[in-house]
Amino acid sequence: MEELLIYINGEFVPKSEAKISVFDHGFLYGDGVFEGIRAYNGKVFRLYEHLDRLYDCAKVIDLEIPLTKEEFAQAILETLRVNKLRDAYIRPIVTRGIGDLGLDPRKCGRPNVIIIAQPWDRLYGDLYEKGLKAVTVAVRRNAIDSLPPNIKSLNYLNNILAKIEANVKGGDEAIFLDHNGYVSEGSGDNIFIVKKKVVYTPPTINNLKGITREVVIEILEEENIPFKETHLSLFDLYSADEVFVTGTAAEIAPVTVIDGRKIGDGKPGELTKFLMKKFREKTEKEGVPIYE
Ligand code: PMP
Repeated sequence: MEELLIYINGEFVPKSEAKISVFDHGFLYGDGVFEGIRAYNGKVFRLYEHLDRLYDCAKVIDLEIPLTKEEFAQAILETLRVNKLRDAYIRPIVTRGIGDLGLDPRKCGRPNVIIIAQPWDRLYGDLYEKGLKAVTVAVRRNAIDSLPPNIKSLNYLNNILAKIEANVKGGDEAIFLDHNGYVSEGSGDNIFIVKKKVVYTPPTINNLKGITREVVIEILEEENIPFKETHLSLFDLYSADEVFVTGTAAEIAPVTVIDGRKIGDGKPGELTKFLMKKFREKTEKEGVPIYE
């Protein structure tokens, strides 16, 4: 297989030579933003929605991306083309850039723009059929008034702590609560429940404004399936008929056990399976063409 080419500030560099300075504040302090995007069947799914979020997150951390949104979109498409990819996971990253050992972002020069695109398998393998065993974790989701979970920043340590805890407890995915005890999200995905044929998900105040979450809500509207955005508790999770998580990498994945409690009958739910099918149809049909 040919070596992947990585986009770094407008140039394509072989993976083995794709390097960033150790003085980059993205490396030193997690100071930067990123995205995770998928290409399916020669098309990039929800490209501009992901770019909107990237630019919004950059704005919030007062980071000016040295490309227009359209230039960024073209850079992503070009990265896929030079790597001859039709199905891929795409990781755009914008770091604060090279600074000194102090925190002050004003000391940093130009932000570094990196785009990695690579082939990708299904994140959860056979668990799409079997269902995930999830565990709630002791570590709480970052508070909205300290490091808002809406920012998709390079600082993912909160999520990594949750993942470590899930690994220790034998869970396939971690479920975060927020500081008030409300359900927040997974370590890398949003969460939905189904109860008496109504679908519920928490508002995006205490979690990431997921693009896949938006797609699921769109499908629910198209299919006239009752849906409510509302705070959820542990009680709601344990007593749900169905639970599923959503994310660019995860797609839609059924959760069949939480903290040892079987969800519904312990098998992926009918509505979850229906949404998985509809989601798959959208990813195959929609998107920005890479090769036209
Ligand atoms: N929450 C977190 C913490 C995530 O990392 C992700 C993945 N980006 C999501 C939710 C899902 O967001 P999206 O559907 O936009 O990938």
